[in-house]
Amino acid sequence: MGASVTVLASGSRGNSALIASAKTRILVDAGVSCREVTRRLRVSGDDPSSLDAILITHEHSDHVAGLRVLANKYQIPVFMTGATHQAWKREARDSKGEPCSLDKLEVFHAGHSFEVGDISITPFTIPHDAVDPVGFTLRVEGVKVSFATDLGYIPASVKHHLRSSDVLLIESNHDLEMLRNGPYPWVVKQRVMSRVGHLSNEALAQFFIADYDGSAAYVILAHLSEQNNHPELAHREAERALQSHASLLQNRVVLATQPEPLAPIRL
Ligand SMILES: [Zn+2]
Ligand SMILES: [Zn+2]
Repeated sequence: MGASVTVLASGSRGNSALIASAKTRILVDAGVSCREVTRRLRVSGDDPSSLDAILITHEHSDHVAGLRVLANKYQIPVFMTGATHQAWKREARDSKGEPCSLDKLEVFHAGHSFEVGDISITPFTIPHDAVDPVGFTLRVEGVKVSFATDLGYIPASVKHHLRSSDVLLIESNHDLEMLRNGPYPWVVKQRVMSRVGHLSNEALAQFFIADYDGSAAYVILAHLSEQNNHPELAHREAERALQSHASLLQNRVVLATQPEPLAPIRL
């Protein structure tokens, strides 16, 4: 068996994905409850007791809501930056409302690669309003899988990390017009649109047209806003941008969803 990528949940109500080699299974973020992660893993034929690590991108609750219960219940090592851990710890409470901690913590630094089993991981800094947010590239069974959600824009350093990805999971958060005319209070709209907010369909399309190398067999559009986006809009915008390059016709565009896991992508 080769590499597989399974998006378990994606969106502002919780994010989690499984990346697996024949030997190693890694969860990126645990933003839905332990019970929900477990249910979704089982839907895709997996089980939390087989997880080797949980990687955390940043401390926002849609990325860590199920973390402590899941990690401690199954004694899974959690990898996060020191600053993210401090921010997480300040807010973390157990079921009785008491401060709590992770049984197995491993600290990493953005820009420094590390390994879990036979998967090599490189965390990189992304522009977002968290203390030390990161995206990840993972090398698994000779395949490069990249994660970049929760970023206000795509700086040159991130473009560099995303090069030659075989699977590219990237944010397509909102349609600018829908966000502007939508129900959010103005301060929230400003936050989402800012350089440390979330990536719009339009900004992603611009990346595809101007900077993307077309390497990915699968492009997964992720972290779609339920209020300020439509799956069809995000899909159409991405397809249109990708089709502007004849060389990119091989890219398959997949939409990650909030309520149910996607079928595993096998490479
Ligand atoms: Zn966030
Ligand atoms: Zn998020």
